[in-house]
Amino acid sequence: MKIRCLFICALGLLLTVPSWAQLDQANRQLAHEILKELIEINTTDSVGNVSTASEAMAKRLRAAGYNDSDIFIGGPNDRKKNLVVRLRGTGAKKPVLLMGHLDVVEAHREDWTSDPFQLVEKDGYFYARGTEDMKASDAIYVLTMMRLKQEGYKPDRDIILALTADEEGGKSNGVDWLIKNHRELVDAEFALNADAGGVVTEKGRPFVVAMGASEKLYADYALEVTNPGGHSSLPRPDNAIYGLSDALVKLQHYRFPFELNDVTREFFAQTSKVQTGQTAADMLAVTKTPPDQAAIERLSKDPFYNSTMHTTCVATRLEAGHANNALPQRATANVNCRILPGHSRDEISNELTKIVDDPKVSVTYVNNGMKVISGDREKAALPPVKLLPAVMDPLQKISDEMWPGAPVVPTMGTGASDGVYTNPAGIPTYGVCGLAIDVDDDRSHGRDERLPIESYYNGAVFYYRYVKAVAGGK
Ligand SMILES: [Zn+2]
Repeated sequence: MKIRCLFICALGLLLTVPSWAQLDQANRQLAHEILKELIEINTTDSVGNVSTASEAMAKRLRAAGYNDSDIFIGGPNDRKKNLVVRLRGTGAKKPVLLMGHLDVVEAHREDWTSDPFQLVEKDGYFYARGTEDMKASDAIYVLTMMRLKQEGYKPDRDIILALTADEEGGKSNGVDWLIKNHRELVDAEFALNADAGGVVTEKGRPFVVAMGASEKLYADYALEVTNPGGHSSLPRPDNAIYGLSDALVKLQHYRFPFELNDVTREFFAQTSKVQTGQTAADMLAVTKTPPDQAAIERLSKDPFYNSTMHTTCVATRLEAGHANNALPQRATANVNCRILPGHSRDEISNELTKIVDDPKVSVTYVNNGMKVISGDREKAALPPVKLLPAVMDPLQKISDEMWPGAPVVPTMGTGASDGVYTNPAGIPTYGVCGLAIDVDDDRSHGRDERLPIESYYNGAVFYYRYVKAVAGGK
């Protein structure tokens, strides 16, 4: 309440708050309870248990009126059970799937100011692992499903909620498992994933409402040079470490071609409206055909804009040599690439070979990324999803009411989410999230992860309204 009041008072406006704008006290209390319960169940891959979180949420949903026949709990092992619950509609339209991962990234007490597995409220923030990524959104989903059931709401399409395991790591990805083993449970016309998108604020002021519509593809490559080696007192002209270094310097100075797709073009066009000066002009200039080269150069200085316009490949690890007094027999670097939609891992592998331009340097795709999927090496980054009116129109409308002046901007994630499973399965997936976070305060995966308290409750208001608008009915 404090932040919101400060914000409104600072504007010096007298606002009448519409009835939808806030959670009533009972739902606020419930939202808090669900979040606290989820946060305090450790769901890390190392020592946590996703099944416990699934069971706890199922218990709440049952108490809200869901029948056992509409609740499924299952997974490949005892620690990684997923939860699927269905609110039945009239069947006039195909279902919508809400998806969220229950697992969280590891967090160690000694690295944090407070216990990462206790919900701490301080200075207007919730602190804990998962406050941002993504237990707050999971709790909002559960709250929304409970409210809709209790109201006796009958949507035009079934609303399915899937809360799943191992998005952040581990070997038992729940979305993958559900699609392979229980496709009928999660089959939908489209999916909403609160793990992407969200309201971007600057010092609390809404700036853009991001909607995840595309993702880059993750790929690791090993660059390796081998050499007969020998005694280090007798250096020779060819040396594995120098050979690899030369290759990496070439990579450092190479930039992959500039390329926009429907989503990134729209991203720059929309973001230019809320930017000012040279940056705004440059954003428009790169959307033109042909694009302005000087504008590309200037925007590329920003890592995020650069990554939006180009495939990127960067050295992330090095290993070489076996003794201080020996010539290296082997030098290896890991090069991590994020590939633009439409390009394959094989294609980038060939590209790296060309950039390095040295037969002594081998380039190999290595399957040790976070997402391990069969048929990996030939895989290409998926084209962006179509911007369906059923998804976009209500998002625009509700955003205009809740965050006036902040345009809805489709974005391409430079990382990856569980959309890597649903999109290829024919369920187009949209990153929609009503949580507002300052642009320079993204602490997901990091220490002292946090979320503004009011952002959480506003996010709950948003999702309730948005799901109803998307699902129609009464
Ligand atoms: Zn996440």
